[in-house]
Amino acid sequence: MSKGTRALTRRTLLVGGGAVLGAGLVVGLGAEPAVFGRPPDAPPPGPDILNDASGLSPVKVARHVTVSDSGDAALAALRRELGDAKSAGRPFIASAARHSMGAQSLAHEGTAVTLHQNAAEIDTANELYRVPAGARWIEVIRRLDAAGWSPTVMQSNNDFGVASTFCVNAHGWPVAHGPFGSTVRSLRLLTASGEVVECSREREADLFRATMGGYGLTGVILDLDVAMTRNMLLQPRFETMPAAEFGTRFIEAAKDPVVRMAYGRLDVTLSSFFEEALLVSYRPASEEGTLPEAVGSGFLSRASRYVFREQVGSDAVKSLRWGIETRVAPKLYGGATRNSLLNEPVATLDDGDPSRTDILHEYFVPPERFADFVAACREVIPSSYQDLLNITLRFVADDPDSLLRYATGPRIAAVMLFSQEMSLRAEQDMDRMTRELIERVLALGGTYYLPYRPHATPDQFRRAYPDHARFAAFKRSVDPALTFRSPFWDRYLAEDAAT
Ligand SMILES: Cc1cc2nc3c(=O)[nH]c(=O)nc-3n(C[C@H](O)[C@H](O)[C@H](O)COP(=O)(O)OP(=O)(O)OC[C@H]3O[C@@H](n4cnc5c(N)ncnc54)[C@H](O)[C@@H]3O)c2cc1C
Repeated sequence: MSKGTRALTRRTLLVGGGAVLGAGLVVGLGAEPAVFGRPPDAPPPGPDILNDASGLSPVKVARHVTVSDSGDAALAALRRELGDAKSAGRPFIASAARHSMGAQSLAHEGTAVTLHQNAAEIDTANELYRVPAGARWIEVIRRLDAAGWSPTVMQSNNDFGVASTFCVNAHGWPVAHGPFGSTVRSLRLLTASGEVVECSREREADLFRATMGGYGLTGVILDLDVAMTRNMLLQPRFETMPAAEFGTRFIEAAKDPVVRMAYGRLDVTLSSFFEEALLVSYRPASEEGTLPEAVGSGFLSRASRYVFREQVGSDAVKSLRWGIETRVAPKLYGGATRNSLLNEPVATLDDGDPSRTDILHEYFVPPERFADFVAACREVIPSSYQDLLNITLRFVADDPDSLLRYATGPRIAAVMLFSQEMSLRAEQDMDRMTRELIERVLALGGTYYLPYRPHATPDQFRRAYPDHARFAAFKRSVDPALTFRSPFWDRYLAEDAAT
């Protein structure tokens, strides 16, 4: 049974975390551990029902194909599928690992294409690598690592597709960088007319800007040229501080040219909720010599996942975990290569509780308003019915490129993982709480991330992404028949396109 058609229950735990491991006995450095349940009223999995990693997005598709060739063979297959979909008047959407959580990678009664290609060519002279759209990050790291290079920016978790990372414009934790799109030099796109268009900041710039963070609505990316950086050995530094001071301290670390990677965490223990913060920053290690091969999670990291799961409903375990992360981990963890820190899989773990599900949220906060964000979260989250298990903080520099941009200035990205009871009551509570958090973040001049659950109202989406109408109008100009379509388009953008 494929992952997309499988009903994921809490028994299936998606966990990441090598860096975190290295960084602190917690699940996933930005690699958010996630457990997802299937809604009680979902249609049963079947050959024509696809789902995403949430397990909460069952969609009946007309056709599902996987493309594993690269180059001309992939292009021919995609052209054929696109032509068939257009002739039948069906929507068409491309995807890779389908870890977006609101059916952004699916199409009702449409053609869904999964791209899974393993290749990457290194161009040392130009400090870039060329990858097919469906290459997974694990393969990119493997090839770059062997040549002494590393992706300049990638999201946490190496199971995802490179073009997907561009289409959600994901961010990572190397500093001080903008989202992944800032490191993409050019790409080739199969458009709705069946043409292949090369686009970059210099050529077809509007298409490039709309495709970056455009959730597959402008065409199918075929391949990309992406910037790379020398791999290196890094040494962690751990600092704790009052949560209200984190914004200032994080920006200082992100702007320090010696710091190469950085992330933060907040204490989620209810009795001391969001009072203390941890900042972990990595600097080049002084040792010289041959770099070890990139590895993933270590034993301590895997063991820490069990502590992580035991946090559900237990303030004592949350407090224990915070102590491990802030006081024990700094004594245990030493140097690691940049590639090892990035090379974390989404692992599977059985936590034995089918009555709960894990849900990710992410908010982008102006650093100078971080203390207000902490205060808002302290008001909204503990009074809800939800159990917050983790929050990871990262730095994202200004994004001057994409139309649907979330970083209109430097931002602190706050990634939250909640454990949610599988009940109507809990779902309604999560819906309400998400909207309230979005409202509070919008009032601070921040925004929220689009690949997760579609709880935001269309009005909140429009306020969070003010260029939505420009994006929709541009999409309509390059795809007048609206062939590239998903439930994300239907819920948040279709109305714009009609005006
Ligand atoms: C455990 C976990 C950890 C995460 N960590 C991070 C993180 O560190 N930073 C961050 O920013 N985000 C993070 N995310 C969000 C993640 O980046 C997105 O969910 C991403 O889309 C996952 O990649 P995927 O291959 O599963 O994408 P998919 O869900 O398959 O696709 C995502 C979007 O890209 C489009 N797309 C994919 N391939 C193509 C193509 N060839 N042409 C055109 N469109 C295409 C799809 O249509 C869809 O709209 C995380 C998510 C999870 C579940």
